Amino acid sequence: MDKADIKSMTLEELGRAFQAQGLPGYRAKQVFHWVHRGVESFKEMTDLSRELRGGLGEDYRIPSVKAVDKRVSRDGTVKYLFQLGDGELVESVLMHYHHGYSICISTQVGCKMNCSFCATGRSGFSRNLLPSEILGQVQSAQLDAGVRISNIVLMGMGEPLDNFQNVLRFLELVSHPEGMNIGMRHISLSTCGVVDRIYELAEKKLQLTLSISLHAPNDEIRSQTMPVNKRWNMGELLKACRHYARETGRRISFEYAMISGVNDMDWCARELTKKLRGMPAHVNLIPVNDVTGAGYKRSSSACLKRFVEILEAGGCTATVRRTLGSDIEASCGQLRRKYKGGNGHEG
Ligand code: SAH
Repeated sequence: MDKADIKSMTLEELGRAFQAQGLPGYRAKQVFHWVHRGVESFKEMTDLSRELRGGLGEDYRIPSVKAVDKRVSRDGTVKYLFQLGDGELVESVLMHYHHGYSICISTQVGCKMNCSFCATGRSGFSRNLLPSEILGQVQSAQLDAGVRISNIVLMGMGEPLDNFQNVLRFLELVSHPEGMNIGMRHISLSTCGVVDRIYELAEKKLQLTLSISLHAPNDEIRSQTMPVNKRWNMGELLKACRHYARETGRRISFEYAMISGVNDMDWCARELTKKLRGMPAHVNLIPVNDVTGAGYKRSSSACLKRFVEILEAGGCTATVRRTLGSDIEASCGQLRRKYKGGNGHEG
């Protein structure tokens, strides 16, 4: 029989499993604490008897998320390359802001969405990450850096809403008071617009920040760069966002990568303002990184400034996102599958 992934189990599940094995109730909490502190083996659970540690090792496994490479940017941003139990590799980025440490983590090995400006989809999709593997990125980075991570953004490799159940479970685990205890208000989930799942997520009424990768003011431009727009168009997406904001009482964050001559014209800002009217929204502008060889050029800072002004004049708050870690390819859209021994050529 396959060993159960203990780090993907909730405290309640662990309690029930331990009870069925005849272990006293307090053991579940004790083991949960160890697992969520990021130990890699049962041997490290030093306040358990040797016999119990051995028994746990026979029934359960702790999936590993091991840092095999680490690059530090001039601005202090750290990019980790993590290897999973089956050899697959994912990247995470640890950033230092004035309010503390924030980590950008991956939810899939690769991605199916194929946005034209993003490197992640280029080398295809391999598999979903387990809840424990999503969590393990936060734990491993925290242990390695020796700092407390206070914020999480699900903006690394993959589409979180395409790995919905595992992501939900990750959210439950990482915010658990007996676990890492990182509150939902400190977590952002970014999606390219998987509309059906946005409705499902709204029902959970979580207090996390939903971030939508919009990148266009209309269907014509959006369908050129984001294939997902052909499945759910902007009208359907924005309707889901309005519903989400109503259900959760949370403001929606929109990501907009500014690409020179593609989506950064003044009329784009005006059209976007109109589309977002009446919705509690904030727009984050990101100068695009050309990572796919598509020849995308980033908009000038004057252009970014004007775009913000037009949005704000229309009643929509907007900011330009600071780019961190671009010298180590740790910025938005630059994360991709690496191959062992290779240096990350694009497939
Ligand atoms: N699949 C999810 C999570 C990935 S988040 C999503 O699409 O939201 C990564 C963020 O970086 C997304 O907002 C994505 O659109 C953005 N991004 C991707 N490539 C980029 C690039 N070349 N320049 C700037 N931002 C980019």
